[in-house]
Amino acid sequence: MGFSLIIFGAGVVLLVLVAANLAALFYTTAGQLSAAAHQRQQESEWFSERLAVARTQLRRAENIGSWNGTRKFQIQRVVLECSEVASFYLVPHDGRPLPGFLPGQFLTFELDVPGQKGRTIRCYSLSDRPRPDYYRVTIKRVPAPPEPLGLKPGLVSNHFHTAFKAGDLLDVKAPGGGFFLDVSQATPVVLLSGGVGITPMISMANEISANSPQREVWFFLSVRNRREHIFKEHLEELARTNPRLRLQICYSRPEAGDLAGRDYQHEGRLTIDLLRRVLPANNFDYFMCGPGPMMSDLNDGLRAWGVPEKHIHFEAFGPASVKRTAPPATTPVGPAARVNFVRSNRDVEWSATHDSLLDLALNEGVSISYACRAGNCGTCKTAIKSGKVTYRKQPGCDVESGSCLTCVAVPEGDLRLDA
Ligand SMILES: Cc1cc2nc3c(=O)[nH]c(=O)nc-3n(C[C@H](O)[C@H](O)[C@H](O)COP(=O)(O)OP(=O)(O)OC[C@H]3O[C@@H](n4cnc5c(N)ncnc54)[C@H](O)[C@@H]3O)c2cc1C
Repeated sequence: MGFSLIIFGAGVVLLVLVAANLAALFYTTAGQLSAAAHQRQQESEWFSERLAVARTQLRRAENIGSWNGTRKFQIQRVVLECSEVASFYLVPHDGRPLPGFLPGQFLTFELDVPGQKGRTIRCYSLSDRPRPDYYRVTIKRVPAPPEPLGLKPGLVSNHFHTAFKAGDLLDVKAPGGGFFLDVSQATPVVLLSGGVGITPMISMANEISANSPQREVWFFLSVRNRREHIFKEHLEELARTNPRLRLQICYSRPEAGDLAGRDYQHEGRLTIDLLRRVLPANNFDYFMCGPGPMMSDLNDGLRAWGVPEKHIHFEAFGPASVKRTAPPATTPVGPAARVNFVRSNRDVEWSATHDSLLDLALNEGVSISYACRAGNCGTCKTAIKSGKVTYRKQPGCDVESGSCLTCVAVPEGDLRLDA
């Protein structure tokens, strides 16, 4: 509420400033329609833009967190974006207004997948800018790994593609996540995406192009070839209509018929060498999402190039793969610590070979629901009965005191968990 008032107050001040600037323009005589008038016009545009941003923030501040648990959404339509990738447009089944979100955030789905015990949970990034009429997620079918033979393809992504159609209902948790674009800033950004990791970036690019087109954007996408070039036409349209958005497409394995200069700008992967060659400087905010090795390499490369850690933001679609260079405040304890999963009646020794408490629990057959495995979605939140944890990566969602996010937590000594 207080936040809303501050934003509302800022909006009113900006409105007055816009009016004052417009009035000044009117009083300029025709003969003096000069550099000064031009400058005022530019200032007016700038103020109008800030006002629009303040209004958007006000709407979001009013809307965020507007439902707890799950809410029913209907699939309005399904659109095939490219080979193996489809977008699902979702509208609220109750017909009530759709809360806003911050570009980069994701939805969490709770699904009944045939053959699975209990509900299956997965997160999918919102792939369009915040809009009043629908949410959109864009999902890539995950194939079975090439080896070992016999493993099944991705459960939920394939279920989305094969079982869901327009009209079906889904249980969805409210938008969340700590990876998002600060829409109150006008600082230039570099968006780095690999494959389906484009989803949060397209939300950011759409938001900037719609509401603050003065903001400079460098949009990098790395895919194998034109068949996998997600949102190709849309990206090209964005670059055509927004001269401040520079599109840089990398094809790692172009096929016959894929044309350099028309379909893509760079042959090869998206690397730090490419960024250093193409970007005019290193002082940007960097947002990245893609395969783990790509993000790790880019993160290391950006740090070596002198980009401060606070300017590098990333989203992991699987277990966290990018390690922050700074070690956690407290390093994980040695093998002396014991972890007691109270409800499962399992008492086990902690060792640093485990990535996290979730990893230990799953190894020991202790059931804890999880989804993102990267400290974002909050699904694996578990109550602590006694002891303390430390985090390998700061949680991207709220964790009340007395609980921990097991997918990114390690014990700080002997620990008893309600699991
Ligand atoms: C914050 C967030 C946002 C995300 N946004 C998107 C998005 O916008 N678009 C998108 O497409 N995805 C997104 N994801 C990823 C998504 O949540 C799922 O992880 C993805 O769809 C795979 O889920 P699945 O159920 O299809 O695969 P799973 O069934 O979870 O399987 C994943 C992989 O593991 C393999 N596997 C299965 N069993 C075994 C086994 N026993 N041993 C070894 N390997 C095995 C499967 O073959 C498959 O390759 C996001 C994830 C997060 C955390």
